[in-house]
Amino acid sequence: MNHLVQAVESDNFQIMRVLFVSSEVFPLIKTGGLADVAGALPLALARLKTDVRLLMPGYPQALEAATRRKVVADLGNPLGAGPARLIEGRLADSKVPLLLIDCPSLYGRDGNPYLGPDGKDWPDNASRFGLLGHTAARLCAGESLIGWKPDILHGHDWQAGLAPAYLAAWGGTRPGTVFTIHNIAYQGLFDPSVLAPLELPITSFSMAGLEYYGQVSFLKAGCWYSDKITTVSPTYARQIQIPEQGCGMEGLLAGRAEDLVGILNGTDDAIWNPASDSYLAERYKPGDMIGKARNKAALQRELGLPMQPGRLLIAVISRLNDHKGMDVVIDSLPDLLMRQHCQFAGLGSGDAVIEAQFRALADRHSHHMALHLGYSEPLAHRIMAGADAFLMPSRMEPCGLTQMYALKYGAIPIVGATGGLVDTVADIDVQGETKAGRGFVLDDIGKASLLRAVKRANALFKDKVEWNRTAAANAGLDFSWKQSAQHYIDLYSNLLKRRSGA
Ligand code: ADP
Repeated sequence: MNHLVQAVESDNFQIMRVLFVSSEVFPLIKTGGLADVAGALPLALARLKTDVRLLMPGYPQALEAATRRKVVADLGNPLGAGPARLIEGRLADSKVPLLLIDCPSLYGRDGNPYLGPDGKDWPDNASRFGLLGHTAARLCAGESLIGWKPDILHGHDWQAGLAPAYLAAWGGTRPGTVFTIHNIAYQGLFDPSVLAPLELPITSFSMAGLEYYGQVSFLKAGCWYSDKITTVSPTYARQIQIPEQGCGMEGLLAGRAEDLVGILNGTDDAIWNPASDSYLAERYKPGDMIGKARNKAALQRELGLPMQPGRLLIAVISRLNDHKGMDVVIDSLPDLLMRQHCQFAGLGSGDAVIEAQFRALADRHSHHMALHLGYSEPLAHRIMAGADAFLMPSRMEPCGLTQMYALKYGAIPIVGATGGLVDTVADIDVQGETKAGRGFVLDDIGKASLLRAVKRANALFKDKVEWNRTAAANAGLDFSWKQSAQHYIDLYSNLLKRRSGA
């Protein structure tokens, strides 16, 4: 019996081998939710008896943070990038093997994985992430590089998009391929001149391939050449098939609707759980609103805000850009602070203009508003624990993790009606909704609508009993990775069955 068929026989799921490919993995390197997913989902899959390994670029901080490192393959001089090796390590103290591509000429620089110190894309990003896809494909095809070949290649976002394109170009046997879109707005577009150095055939540069309006699109490659496409919430799976959210890929995705599925992300309980969170002033059980009140006081003290338990403390933890609706937060803040008497705690970084506008507001309203521009994992946790309400007026939100953290930490979410926010937060005032999570959903993304939602939040906040009851019920919701991981395993095994003709 061949290996694929064996893997899908019901008792033998444990031998299913999955190669995860991601450009960022928490806690090694993170710029957004992709890292959280790539750091947590493999662990959840491993717990469900899947043999999963994780491939990523060998950034200096990742090489340093990986434990139990050893060289497992000499990659030669791949794509003419210079000497490269594959180093195996472990993700923290987990059992999941981590494969790092050690290629100093491409990855041997500190800082952001995508941007140079000037804030612009690294000029050689096509090579940096071309090599990621190339190495992933080498691990799947032909002679085994490390004595292990996957049944499923699972790539994440445009940075991993070329892997199935290489497999298609090389022919021969290959694993089942799954590609996950975490955010369709980032597409990895490059001039066609990158094709030759990436050693991809010119024939791939067509509509039935990786060409996208005259450019090479790594994201399109991932979608086009993969057997299955997933994205990170059921609502986003529908939205990316229409022009408003499809960012030009809607036609392709609508054409692949049968192969496109939305699987909601989970949250990592080991990291985001107020009962065990070592960053907090005081740990508290999810739903313990007395413990939460103490964390609110501690946060107000830490941020230099007046210790006023009766003021609604609204928080934002976000990349600062228009997709996240931060322009609307800026427009609304003076009214929120001065007319609706809220306090505000903001943590984020991003668009320079938006950062400057936030800074100006914080200077003007320092008595009611605290701002930390930059990235701080500890502060993010303390803000979640201390905030009464969590604001996320996103125009697009493929899944969103922070609203789920907020629910768990007893901060009631105020969210835009899009993507994963729709799938996780039902409006408190709308009858007959599911109980998938409770908060305030904006009618649209604009100042008036945001102010209306906060007004409703303030009204509920005055009714302490009802507010606490709602927040405590939210904290008991289950957004664990176990559920998502089971969906992925079902998807993998159905794909393997289909490919083996079973
Ligand atoms: P996205 O991936 O679009 O940025 P998500 O809500 O899916 O949004 O995930 C964002 C993740 O990044 C969360 O874990 C959030 O806590 C974290 N985060 C965002 N900005 C900051 C920041 N400035 N400091 C610390 N953590 C941040």
